Amino acid sequence: MKYNALKGVHDILPPDIHIWQKVEDAAKDIFSVYGFQELRAPIIESTDIFVRSIGETTDIVEKEMYTFSDKADRRITLRPEGTAPVVRSYVENHMYNLPSPQKFFYSGPMFRYERPQAGRFRQFYQIGAEAFGVSDPKIDAEILSMLKLFFERIGLKDLNFQINSIGCDKCRPGYKKALIDFFSDRLEGLCPDCKRRYEINPLRILDCKVDACVKLKEGAPHVTDSLCGECQIHFDAFQDFLKSLDVPFVINPNMVRGLDYYTRTTFEVTCEHLGSQNAVAAGGRYDKLVQEFGGPPTPAIGFAAGMERLTTLLKSSSVDVVPSPKAFIAILGTEAERESLIISNRLREKGVWAEIGYSGNSLKSQLRRADRLSTEYVLIIGEDEIKSGKVKWKRLSDGSQGEVTLSGIYDFVSPPHRVL
Ligand code: ATP
Ligand code: MG
Repeated sequence: MKYNALKGVHDILPPDIHIWQKVEDAAKDIFSVYGFQELRAPIIESTDIFVRSIGETTDIVEKEMYTFSDKADRRITLRPEGTAPVVRSYVENHMYNLPSPQKFFYSGPMFRYERPQAGRFRQFYQIGAEAFGVSDPKIDAEILSMLKLFFERIGLKDLNFQINSIGCDKCRPGYKKALIDFFSDRLEGLCPDCKRRYEINPLRILDCKVDACVKLKEGAPHVTDSLCGECQIHFDAFQDFLKSLDVPFVINPNMVRGLDYYTRTTFEVTCEHLGSQNAVAAGGRYDKLVQEFGGPPTPAIGFAAGMERLTTLLKSSSVDVVPSPKAFIAILGTEAERESLIISNRLREKGVWAEIGYSGNSLKSQLRRADRLSTEYVLIIGEDEIKSGKVKWKRLSDGSQGEVTLSGIYDFVSPPHRVL
């Protein structure tokens, strides 16, 4: 019997995993200095949570969710994104009673039944952050500068920050009407989904990736021309703060994002080296969602970054992050078996990565393994070494050699920190 992973999912194996861990560590370091704490929500939630928040006429809800009934006939969905679960948790745990802003980050797998292709999977990983309780556009700018710092820290280059404002309940109806007018004589050419969305949710047409719809939306009215006074002030201040923080950006008035819960600010970070799936992170404001989930009116903003796309970029820029052992204890003869085990274990207790040779492997094959692992020091222990209490070491990187006592190995391989 031979088993394969399901279509559209993938294993993350060494050496790639080291790139993943580097990205995750950088995110945690940087998000925490901006005051974001980790929140771990479940991977399964009630289907309703996603339908209500993401929106019934979005691609995610219409086509992409992994939904099933459990044994008690509850409708359950594997989370397709991270914002709705965090909002559910924020409201359920009454975190609106805590001082604002409350800031959280999350990381983990998301699930969407999409057509698998480069940069698009059915189980994929996101790192995201959400901030609750502040409507001040300063926080919109802080979030983008946090993303910029994160991407710089992991060494990503040639990124574009695109921003937009999609208005609020006050100005959106006017814009919807302008869109309906615009598409009224183009209706025939739209894809069946967009035809259906035309009346209920014309904004979705702008997000459609079908070629015909992409062509037909050329020349469509810009949402930024319909903003109400307050949304315009917010959008202007946001841009002003971005300039103060040296976050380079362009306004993309066609970027409405594929989820219905956004209000005002939306943004996307794209990378020139990624081909057609070029968005590495995306997000926006969702000032109504907490209230829709039963909480008090609470402005909020967040984003999610796609781990596969980030790590692909880092792989291609060949950042060397594969760790290697500090010491390899090779063995000659049976007496060295126990000694190598004891020495390596003491090194490990000190936090030093040590490897040992195993019986049945020739010295040559042990040394080959040490070399493959890019070990720093190789020490060979045999009968003579145990008798004399001295062992030869070799540093593989420069070929230097020397001798050290058996009891001095620990300090030699991992010198104690000198107190000045
Ligand atoms: P796209 O336009 O690429 O479909 P999206 O708008 O559906 O993206 P979001 O829901 O905003 O994506 O998710 C944020 C980020 O998560 C994306 O920018 C992308 O990097 C990543 N992402 C989304 N869907 C997938 C997927 N199926 N496989 C891998 N990464 C994904
Ligand atoms: Mg998508």
